[in-house]
Amino acid sequence: MTARILIVGSGPTGATHARVLLEQLTDVSVLVVEAGPLVSRPAGTNVKNIPDPEEQAAARLASQGPSSESGVSGIPGGVVVEGTITARQGTHLIGRAADGSPGMPAAAGATCVGGQGVHWTCATPRPVGSERIPFLDAAEWEELVTEAEGLLHVHRPDFAGSPQATAILETVRAEFAPDGITVRPLPVAADPRPDGSLRWSGTDVVLDGVPDDERFTLRPETLCVRLVREGDRVVGAVLRDLRTGEEEEVRADAVVVAADALRTPQLLWASGIRPAALGRYLTEHPLLFGVVAVRPDLLPEREDPTAPVDPIRAIVSVGFDEERHPYHAQLMWNPVSPAPLPEGSRFRDNPAGYVGMGWGIRKWPRPEDRLTFEDDRPDEHGLPGIRIAYELTEREEAEFARARVHQARAAAALGEFLDGMPKVMPAGSSLHYMGTVRMGPADDGTSVCDPLSRVWGVPGLVLAGNGLIPTANSCNPTLTSVALAIRAARALAADLADVPAVAGAASE
Ligand SMILES: Cc1cc2nc3c(=O)[nH]c(=O)nc-3n(C[C@H](O)[C@H](O)[C@H](O)COP(=O)(O)OP(=O)(O)OC[C@H]3O[C@@H](n4cnc5c(N)ncnc54)[C@H](O)[C@@H]3O)c2cc1C
Repeated sequence: MTARILIVGSGPTGATHARVLLEQLTDVSVLVVEAGPLVSRPAGTNVKNIPDPEEQAAARLASQGPSSESGVSGIPGGVVVEGTITARQGTHLIGRAADGSPGMPAAAGATCVGGQGVHWTCATPRPVGSERIPFLDAAEWEELVTEAEGLLHVHRPDFAGSPQATAILETVRAEFAPDGITVRPLPVAADPRPDGSLRWSGTDVVLDGVPDDERFTLRPETLCVRLVREGDRVVGAVLRDLRTGEEEEVRADAVVVAADALRTPQLLWASGIRPAALGRYLTEHPLLFGVVAVRPDLLPEREDPTAPVDPIRAIVSVGFDEERHPYHAQLMWNPVSPAPLPEGSRFRDNPAGYVGMGWGIRKWPRPEDRLTFEDDRPDEHGLPGIRIAYELTEREEAEFARARVHQARAAAALGEFLDGMPKVMPAGSSLHYMGTVRMGPADDGTSVCDPLSRVWGVPGLVLAGNGLIPTANSCNPTLTSVALAIRAARALAADLADVPAVAGAASE
């Protein structure tokens, strides 16, 4: 019997499920459906690898959802630098504020083959201490994260060939060394090329190794409209071809929903799967961002001042430390200011360039920070409209106050903040949304999934993505979510190896 699996969403976590399931099961058919179009080749290639700037811009625009051309939800390309305030090109706004709440004005996602994984900055620090999921075995977790690093091609740069980044690293390291705070090059998901540049990982590297045969199908521009149930069990889904508008029902032995932390709960809601914790406990990484004009004496001269610089190639990381520095920071040198400078600003054309610095803090999960869904005010696809209630509390404000002190020290060591800096970025700017389908150790109403990412009480339904992460943390989430997807896919493969196929699912 061939086991048939449907995966909704082609980002890094959906791709991880596909890869692991195809590796673990020989008699399997995996269909991945993706609402967005193919924007890069091979499928899922990070758009930063597209050499032609116009083609790169077109790939970003094509990922900005159905309203991008009208400018309703698509965000035009800006001047922000990826990784520090997380560039918005390639994404589109999702949801609106709930009544009486400031909401998350910058909440966004990408709609394309590879999901946000073709636009991400590729920062992949490991979660440490309380950032880890406490009910998962520590030794198993280490093994899973190592596997996830392998899947994403995580690389630990040494900053060779980046004397400016090296000088910044050493300056900030000297500032924080007396406090015992670790400052180091940030690991990134990328492969070094012989010329020293990096080839950025997208979902192409996750899917690399998936055999190009009839066991695997990727269907772009196909929206999952709802999941189909028989009794409690999910047995398939209704899919809409967005090019023709035609709908069909597909049967499956298991459905994996990996449709991001905003749209995964939306699809469950649309399917009548509405556990108490669905959409609640929404967290992200509130962000304190600033740009520093670097002191003239600090950096070595550039050999060729006209040579282009890729700021993401050498990111300085100030790591999370429970006691001393309970947040993550990323610093990037750029000869060009990543923030617009007004005419006449004394910081214009600063000879030593600029450092963009983002301090991302924790948001503690609360049930009242949540998504709600409006059946009577649907989104552009007719799925329930997403409303967001989200607020920072005194706890996060206190953390911001503390982070400001650390950030100010780094800024003073490097130079001087531009006017008006630093600033707290609008909620949602991190693009790291978590908790909305969180996993938990018990079915007690505070979680949606069990520790193997299976929705409590709904056999046949497995979730993936950042929405599963239940902790307050400040590290970039993709590595964690890919590790969780490996764990869940292995368990699903083991289940499917034992369980007879759903009636009506393809069997050969
Ligand atoms: C500019 C940018 C920079 C980032 N930088 C980092 C970083 O440095 N480090 C880090 O860890 N993370 C970063 N992120 C976040 C990272 O990209 C995400 O954590 C990661 O992509 C999540 O993977 P995913 O598979 O869960 O979801 P996604 O990659 O979001 O993919 C979900 C897919 O599901 C599809 N989908 C949704 N609903 C449906 C439906 N009903 N039917 C069919 N398809 C559907 C969507 O179109 C989308 O393609 C960044 C994101 C952006 C945009």
